[in-house]
Amino acid sequence: MSDVKNVVIIGSGPAGHTAAIYAARANLSPFMFEGYVMGGSAGGQLTTTTDVENYPGFPDGVEGPELMQLFRKQSERFGTEMVGEDVNEVDFSSRPFKVKSDNREVLAHSIIISTGATARRMGVPNEEKMWNNGMSACAVCDGALPMFRNQPLMVIGGGDTAVEEATYLTKFGSKVYMVHRRDELRASKIMQERAFKTPKLEIVWDTALEDAVGQDYVTGAKIKNLKTNEVKEVEVAGIFYAIGHTPNTSVFKGQVDLDATGYIKVKPGTQETSVEGVFAAGDVHDHKYRQAVTAAGTGCAAALEAERWLAEKSIG
Ligand code: NDP
Repeated sequence: MSDVKNVVIIGSGPAGHTAAIYAARANLSPFMFEGYVMGGSAGGQLTTTTDVENYPGFPDGVEGPELMQLFRKQSERFGTEMVGEDVNEVDFSSRPFKVKSDNREVLAHSIIISTGATARRMGVPNEEKMWNNGMSACAVCDGALPMFRNQPLMVIGGGDTAVEEATYLTKFGSKVYMVHRRDELRASKIMQERAFKTPKLEIVWDTALEDAVGQDYVTGAKIKNLKTNEVKEVEVAGIFYAIGHTPNTSVFKGQVDLDATGYIKVKPGTQETSVEGVFAAGDVHDHKYRQAVTAAGTGCAAALEAERWLAEKSIG
């Protein structure tokens, strides 16, 4: 069946593109659904970040979107076929596998799932109304907007992302509150130090966001001290969530085994999912490291495993 692709890669972050580079260089002519809406945008989470300082090979750091352009260029150079479409249905119950978007159905001998994860929301009462009217899950994407300039701003969360986003927002806001539900940060030591040292950044400990305040756009935040139960309103023009991620696996439910939190399960020490010939790489299966470089590493591993598997089946 010549119209069956050897490898279909779903997702275009560091995992997907590394898988594509390896599969293309192995003459497997990979086909990639880059995604469009699912997971925010093609290119994955690095397209919504600024400086990446921990990707090896870039001693002076590199902008996230630029790094993803470089990944994409390298996939393209070796002949990866790419379409900027979201996959909305898959059928892994029989071979060849079927992968569908709004525009096409592609048949595949093997699959690499690298759809990543999406920023979580809290679901406070005014969230829907205020979304994009002062509420956002990406300070790096939205923080430079005029509405936030010289205004007090708020970040929710206590991990590395929260510190990164709060620090970034101090460039624009008059003051940045980082509201964290506990009395110690989850962020790494180096990021904690950065948070403590950044002028204009105030950490509000043991506190939760109750709601966004405002008519048409955010003018304040209602927050609650979880130790004293005191509720108060703070004047802010923006509320930015940085409370972790949910894996982009809804389309794979019932097709491959997922864990209790929705991440794809792989056999220990491999990138193999519960379906033979279907592999997973990157944040979609990794809630532990979640780094661009680990995603790239597992993307490489998934492509090598797919190559080996196709060779065993005498395909490709
Ligand atoms: P994390 O899961 O590490 O942190 C999420 C934070 O949000 C935690 O502080 C958590 O609180 C808080 N939180 C979660 N749910 C809620 C809720 N419902 N209400 C209030 N607070 C909530 O996610 P990150 O996105 O920060 O980081 C993910 C991974 O990416 C990590 O491995 C991190 O190291 C890495 N990363 C590295 C960066 C770098 O090196 N430059 C930059 C950004 C991310 P609690 O602590 O109480 O659980």
